[in-house]
Amino acid sequence: MITREDIRELAQLQCIEDEEGCALTFYFQPRTPQNKSHREEAILLKDLVRDTIREAEKGGKNESLRRDLQRIVDLAGRLHGNQARAKAVFACGNRHFWREFDLPPQLSGTQLFVNRRFHLKPLAVLLGAHPRICVVLLDRHKARVFDLRLDEVKEQEGLFRPLPRRGRGDGFAGYDGGHAERSVQDEALHHFKFVAEHLREALEKDLFDNLIFGCQESNWHDLETHLHPYLKKRMLGRFSADVGSMKTEQVREQAGRILRESQDERRRNLVKEVLDQAKSNSRGVTGLRRVLRSLEMGEVQTLLMGENYRAHAVECTGCGHLDAHMVRYCPACGRSTRELEDVCDAIVPATIRRDIELFYVDGDPEFDKVGNIAALLRFRADQSKGGGVAVAS
Ligand SMILES: [Zn+2]
Repeated sequence: MITREDIRELAQLQCIEDEEGCALTFYFQPRTPQNKSHREEAILLKDLVRDTIREAEKGGKNESLRRDLQRIVDLAGRLHGNQARAKAVFACGNRHFWREFDLPPQLSGTQLFVNRRFHLKPLAVLLGAHPRICVVLLDRHKARVFDLRLDEVKEQEGLFRPLPRRGRGDGFAGYDGGHAERSVQDEALHHFKFVAEHLREALEKDLFDNLIFGCQESNWHDLETHLHPYLKKRMLGRFSADVGSMKTEQVREQAGRILRESQDERRRNLVKEVLDQAKSNSRGVTGLRRVLRSLEMGEVQTLLMGENYRAHAVECTGCGHLDAHMVRYCPACGRSTRELEDVCDAIVPATIRRDIELFYVDGDPEFDKVGNIAALLRFRADQSKGGGVAVAS
């Protein structure tokens, strides 16, 4: 399973100045059998690789790239038609770098790229749509905890055991009977407190991004009073569940549904917010030129992009400045620039390295009108009061 650290490592890699592009990215999306046969798939892939080798040879690219491409053909040959998972490979022969990852089969297609950096957009789309989720099923005595990541769900074991129930036989009915009832009630509260505390600790250790609960209405009320406000903020929703009998697959379905609904809602809200903020000249910018400037100023909190967004730009060979105007020399440092076929290849790794939240927007006409790229800002450098003045003591 791909981790945040893996992505960061991929986002760091970049060819050095005098190297031709040598970073190879391969995405494999399995087809449904009625769509294309495995044989056809293999032929298509061979064509794809042959074209890529031809392109690479035109640019006088190196032998190690050709070896990596051959390795991809071999690998693809082993991905049989019934392969359920998608796959991503990132390779750079010059650096003896090779990474393979299994992914949910939700890529837009099988693709191959050779460039100065890895092509991370499809990966970022997937990861953005799949935060690390902790799913907690609980009743008054038990709790089961699951990790949901990239559409795979795993139950954590041994975290919570059923609390020993005090027997009803404690003392006589009547006074002592009432006492035993209260004890059971105390135990349940203690249990909810314990679960809430455990979740708070897990969040502090950064073990998940979001939370989903499965429980009955009455238990939810008891748990909620113990949940730290930070945890409530991370909560995406809850569903009704029977803790003892619920199967992993049902957890995946229920939690997946809640995740999709909350993502759709968040996307709509973000688009509305960024457009409003941009209109009032406040914490929002739209269009590539303004977004690039805000990225450079370190202002961006969340970047929104159309799912199929592409744009030409130039990149400074010296300082890395990105410019939407196709200028030959960098306006910041004067060094020469190089053309980027798609500015996303530079933007996406930059957002990953800087922990900027990335959201993809699809089929929103308002967003389309402003150029399919926008950013929500943490601050605006030109508007912050007394900003940038450091006083040495
Ligand atoms: Zn420059």
